[in-house]
Amino acid sequence: DAFQRVNVPDAVETVLALLAHKLGERITVLRQFEAVPELRCSPTLLNQVVMNVLSNAADAIVGRGRIVIRTESDAQHYRIAIGDSGPGIPAELRERVFEPFFTTKPVGAGTGLGLAIAYTVIQAHGGTITVGESPDGGACFVVSVPTNLEP
Ligand code: ADP
Ligand code: MG
Repeated sequence: DAFQRVNVPDAVETVLALLAHKLGERITVLRQFEAVPELRCSPTLLNQVVMNVLSNAADAIVGRGRIVIRTESDAQHYRIAIGDSGPGIPAELRERVFEPFFTTKPVGAGTGLGLAIAYTVIQAHGGTITVGESPDGGACFVVSVPTNLEP
């Protein structure tokens, strides 16, 4: 759908409100929102990507834990980093999580499509989505999109 000017921290807050029941009391969310310019993107698709990554982070955290969300930008790129305190993803599986139908969740619990869709969406925006380790020992997903997204 159509590109619009999106305030990313506001978009993240919208998604967090939708996930409030799932994050509950057990997960502390830390926001590190750098004052960033608005991003030209599809608001619906951006919400879907952030929703899936945050929802996966909540699934990964057993018991209490935390999620750290950082937004930052430079002249070329806009980055949203979402790290969690879950068990992380073994290095040999980090590429595979973006494959359609890759899931480690019980049958019926996960479709394995969330990150595959996120990958396609971010690629269509000329960006990348990668995964590494968070300082909290879990996974950290980084979405990077070009800052000067003109229509
Ligand atoms: P689904 O959530 O339906 O399993 P996804 O494409 O969203 O599908 O994620 C694929 C797989 O990637 C998950 O089943 C899980 O094994 C792994 N994964 C994704 N995010 C995380 C995370 N934050 N920590 C640990 N594993 C993760
Ligand atoms: Mg998922």
